[in-house]
Amino acid sequence: MHDYPMTRRPWLIAFCIALGGLIASAQQSTPRTPRDEGFTDTPMQPGGKWHVHDPARPKPPIVTPGAGPGAAPSDAVVLFDGRDLSQWAHRDAKGAMSNSTWAVRDGYFETGKGSLHTRAAFGDVQLHVEWSAPSVVAGHSQDRGNSGVFLMGLYEIQVLDSFNNPTYSDGQAAAMYGQWPPLANVARKPGEWQTYDIVFEAPRFENGTLVKPAFQTVFWNGVVVHNRQEAIGATVYRNVAKYAPHAAELPLMIQDHANPVRFRNIWIRRLGTYEAPAKK
Ligand code: MG
Repeated sequence: MHDYPMTRRPWLIAFCIALGGLIASAQQSTPRTPRDEGFTDTPMQPGGKWHVHDPARPKPPIVTPGAGPGAAPSDAVVLFDGRDLSQWAHRDAKGAMSNSTWAVRDGYFETGKGSLHTRAAFGDVQLHVEWSAPSVVAGHSQDRGNSGVFLMGLYEIQVLDSFNNPTYSDGQAAAMYGQWPPLANVARKPGEWQTYDIVFEAPRFENGTLVKPAFQTVFWNGVVVHNRQEAIGATVYRNVAKYAPHAAELPLMIQDHANPVRFRNIWIRRLGTYEAPAKK
């Protein structure tokens, strides 16, 4: 068999280019079919609002994902990007805000005196938090790397050094504190960065009565540890939690518990509904 280098066959190269162009233009001009747009001759979905494959159903908003795992997508409210705590404040008993006094260093902040609240209020959210317990182990049980992520300032996902640190299960890291232990202990070693990805459904009250409890879904270091678990009520210590009516949106809180726990890369997304996706 003869070997023909491509340079000897310019007609073949030209043919391939022409064929490629034909295929490309054919693809572009492929007429759109009803299947592309949807159907209105299909049964109605439960609820009677949309046909199955309804073309009129609102298109989901376009969100640009973060550049890597844990990076904030384009519609997130970035609560801490490594530089400052301007989105956070201390609140006194009357709700008056003052600037954060917690230390910010090298892309993270460290818990200090007095819990910190976001200046903005949130209801249903997706929340990403990264935290690290002190690398020098001191204390035990609840006195080791204790902090907490309080959704609405009321519903705590516990932050604790739970690496070889026995404590009561409903108070270990990632517990819905005092209510539900995590489904697994996914603790990394002290000093290592850990992640919480939380989906929180705020409770609903009508005329001062609870009509829907709060639900929490939590991934700890990528492992699901709460699967839309119902909160018994607002977090309490040594007592049974219960609900008290509150606003539809409240600030997120990070707990001061006298332990220098570090946090970085915190962002939050308000959750909308299928009919009305939330805006930033
Ligand atoms: Mg705590």
